[in-house]
Formats: sequence, structure tokens, C-alpha cells
Amino acid sequence: MSKCIFCKIANGQMPAHIRYEDDEVVAFDDINPKAPFHVLIVPKKHLKNLNDTAKIDQDLLGHLLLIAQKVAEEAKIADNGYKIVINNGKESGQLVDHLHLHLLGGKLLARMAV
Ligand code: 5GP
Ligand code: ZN
Repeated sequence: MSKCIFCKIANGQMPAHIRYEDDEVVAFDDINPKAPFHVLIVPKKHLKNLNDTAKIDQDLLGHLLLIAQKVAEEAKIADNGYKIVINNGKESGQLVDHLHLHLLGGKLLARMAV
């Protein structure tokens, strides 16, 4: 059984506030939000980070971005703007070793360090 917390959320073993789900992706609220709106967009396939992806993941990577757009529109933050962040590896601050997009919005983020 996987010890990865995002795999556990993706397969329903761990609770989260789910905003969107399909066969490939799940989007849920970050447990420690850094903005009024902070959702994590996560592939169900366990990929450690971008370094762990390849050509075979091209459609999945595009899908993650389109789901980010959809979740932002549904949350009504799309018009005001939002920020997408992908931390990749230890010097980026990546803490959870399962690829995820941060979708941040709901306040002025122009000066936010990424
Ligand atoms: P990273 O630093 O790896 O890019 O971001 C990991 C994110 O996952 C952090 O923003 C953190 O608050 C969030 N996180 C960590 N554990 C959990 C959890 O158990 N549930 C949820 N919903 N978010 C989590
Ligand atoms: Zn995982």
C-alpha cells in the first residue's frame, strides 16, 4: 500500500475537500492555504515531480492545466487572475513528493514569492 499522502487522497483513503475529480486527476483544497483560494491539482498516477515525467505524460500534463483553468472558473477567480506554481525538488521547497499544481487566488498575488 502506498505511503504517499496524495495517492491516499486520490484513492479515497484520506479525506480532503475535493473540488474536481475524474479518472486521471483530483483537485482538492490545500490543508494549509497560502491564499484565500488554494487548491492542489494532482494526477492520480504517482509521479514524483516534473523530473519524473516524460513524453507519455504529455496529455496528462496538459490536462492538469486545463483542470486548473476549470477549477478557477468555477471558483469565480478566473477573471481577477490566479497563480499556478509547481515546486520541483528540494531547492524549490517541494515537500510532498507527488507531482501537484498549486492554484492560488482570491487576493493580489503579484508580489508573492514563488
Ligand atoms: P509543496 O511544498 O510540496 O509544493 O506543497 C505541498 C502542499 O501540500 C502544501 O501546501 C501543504 O499545505 C499541502 N499538504 C500537505 N499535506 C496535506 C494533506 O494531508 N492534505 C492536504 N489537503 N494538503 C496537504
Ligand atoms: Zn503519490
